[in-house]
Amino acid sequence: MTHVITGLCNRSGGCVRVCPVDCIVPGQPPEQWPYYYIDPDACIDCGACVDACPYNAIWPESTVPDFLKADIQANYDYFRLGPGYGGRRSNA
Ligand code: SF4
Ligand code: SF4
Repeated sequence: MTHVITGLCNRSGGCVRVCPVDCIVPGQPPEQWPYYYIDPDACIDCGACVDACPYNAIWPESTVPDFLKADIQANYDYFRLGPGYGGRRSNA
């Protein structure tokens, strides 16, 4: 299991500061990866980021509402196909 960030993300950045395993990164470039993303292989499901998000963008993967389910895969793709942690070098 993992938590995932959905399309409700507004790139406010608050979730990054509370993650105990530092597995949340801003998508880069934003035109291609418009949200923040959680590394599904590193997330320990502590839930701290959920309370830190003012937009209710973060959900446990198993409870993502239907209208946001299409956003789940982007979290996996960002780390397996996209820049992943390397995107931090051009942080925004
Ligand atoms: S706290 Fe919420 S809106 Fe802000 S970057 Fe994280 S997921 Fe996106
Ligand atoms: S659930 Fe915990 S470990 Fe997973 S991304 Fe959120 S703060 Fe990080």
